Amino acid sequence: MSKVLIIGAGGVGTVVAHKLAQQATVFTDITLASRTLAKCNAIADAVHRKTGGNKIKTAQVDADKTDELIALFKAVQPELVINVALPYQDLSIMDACLACGVNYLDTANYEPLDEAKFEYKWQWAYRERFKEAGLTAILGCGFDPGVTGVYTAYAAKHHFSEMQFLDIVDCNAGDHGKAFATNFNPEINIREVTQPGKYWKDGQWIYTDPHEIHRALNYPNIGPKESYVIYHEELESLVKNFPSLQRARFWMTFGQEYLTHLRVIQNIGMARIDPILYNGVEIVPIQFLKAVLPNPGELGENYTGETSIGCRISGLDRNGQKLTYYVYNNCKHQDAYKETGTQGVSYTTGVPAMIGAMMFVQGLWKKPGVFNVEEFDPDPFMEQLNKQGLPWHELFNIDLEL
Ligand code: NDP
Repeated sequence: MSKVLIIGAGGVGTVVAHKLAQQATVFTDITLASRTLAKCNAIADAVHRKTGGNKIKTAQVDADKTDELIALFKAVQPELVINVALPYQDLSIMDACLACGVNYLDTANYEPLDEAKFEYKWQWAYRERFKEAGLTAILGCGFDPGVTGVYTAYAAKHHFSEMQFLDIVDCNAGDHGKAFATNFNPEINIREVTQPGKYWKDGQWIYTDPHEIHRALNYPNIGPKESYVIYHEELESLVKNFPSLQRARFWMTFGQEYLTHLRVIQNIGMARIDPILYNGVEIVPIQFLKAVLPNPGELGENYTGETSIGCRISGLDRNGQKLTYYVYNNCKHQDAYKETGTQGVSYTTGVPAMIGAMMFVQGLWKKPGVFNVEEFDPDPFMEQLNKQGLPWHELFNIDLEL
């Protein structure tokens, strides 16, 4: 018996709901809550049509309000909350977890609404309180962050005696047929990719202009794609948890069309996160922009192509010899759509969130405190990735290009 509560009925929440329902013997009681009840009901209906079984229960909640969350947790009594709302809600949900004795899992670290800055410090500050309460919090359990941390932990456990260089490479070679759309929440996405670049080298952070470092990298089954060094949140925990890393970077592909739109959006002030007065009403330009952009959760139908995300690692193998290693997954947007009605980016995030929840309820990833995914045993998670739709592949002693 396990009772779980999903918060957030967007693209990722849709996938999590489908994948939890497919595992009816592991997750026996599922509730989906979000700001808009109608979205939860539509997802519950779609899941029921596909998987049958017990229908997912639904509820309305404003997850910015801890008192509303506490009332919901008392009514639902979940063992675990899967937070796939927005990063702004992480702390209010963690507060409610502490108040009600509920365990916690998310896919993105906390970001203050008025500052585009993601850091683990706010959530790591909950470590002692979760530990004292005997509760587990699993942070960043999507694909990146998430699977990329598990891949790194797996490489450290099985292949390397010393990992020296880590490059996380994230390619979306999909085509959704729109002039401009983001693959997950547009507000969070644009805040992320317009930040200055930042990577780890010889014990310190090196800062760059946004998209300053770029080069073509070859992705399996896809070929060369221009890839840009951007800052990504898992770098912060990975360099702490694997201190032998001399350099750690994150590369993401962007098409020229996407970058041109982004530049225009920034230049005309539509990426602003501070409120402005419009017709006597305060609006935040980036939030208004989100309202007119395509909904990422609905891009799936005409989305072709695939994603390829992995870790390229070099260092010394278990015999002290030089080793280069690449572990990755490719995910086709159309396969994701057929299974869950969403595109590959929602899918590659939602499947690992479900697996993390499975690890927790099966007692495999359960210890009091606040943890990043690489602090748990990667093996059972890696095994499930192969079974749950995100199979991985390993290449040894190849040219990593980096
Ligand atoms: P969406 O915008 O599609 O969905 C977010 C959902 O959260 C919406 O249903 C929204 O409600 C709900 N929500 C927002 N604010 C509140 C609130 N105050 N109270 C209750 N519900 C709220 O986003 P995605 O599904 O694309 O992304 C979800 C999360 O996954 C994000 O945090 C994102 O950063 C993360 N992510 C992580 C990745 C990874 O690999 N680790 C990759 C991609 C995404 P409403 O419908 O009413 O607006």
